[in-house]
Amino acid sequence: MIGVLSLQGAISEHAHVLNQIGVKSKPILNRDDLNGIDGLIIPGGESTAIKKLMAYNHLFPAIKQLIQDGLPTFGTCAGMVLLSQPDSFDMLPATVVRNGFGRQQQSFEADLTFKALAKPFHAVFIRAPYLKNVADNVKVLASIEDKVVAVAKDHVLATAFHPELTGDVRLHEYFIDHFVH
Ligand code: GLN
Repeated sequence: MIGVLSLQGAISEHAHVLNQIGVKSKPILNRDDLNGIDGLIIPGGESTAIKKLMAYNHLFPAIKQLIQDGLPTFGTCAGMVLLSQPDSFDMLPATVVRNGFGRQQQSFEADLTFKALAKPFHAVFIRAPYLKNVADNVKVLASIEDKVVAVAKDHVLATAFHPELTGDVRLHEYFIDHFVH
């Protein structure tokens, strides 16, 4: 059972992809919803809004504790921001640059090569962040020039783009196969 943090942003799309690959999910709206989950997805949206709503719903400390204790977690876009920021979950030693691709490229698409995937992944970036100054213990999975856009560290996976929007289920499968199981 995978929890999808369901406060703001691209929520139902993640549940849809999980359903497509035969994985059960449930929305996380309050602390009780966290019981019994084997993994967590933190979707894209607006990281500041998600952070405020997590505080309001008393979710932030509970989720932070679970992630620190090893809950497999996949953050996309704003989810990557929250996993990186020192004053949020602080799980990825790296500097996150919000809206890092600037005004001209608020949204764009790119084909990214992942070692773990046989064919490139067509990635949709929407006001996306990127990571820089990535510590050695963080595995870089994909970059655009010097901007790091997909990483893994221990039980945490994060992408700067939205893998739930393109109908390509491979990164969700990768999360389930390599992080949850
Ligand atoms: N720019 C947003 C933020 O920093 C993230 C955008 C997204 O999730 N598509 O929260």
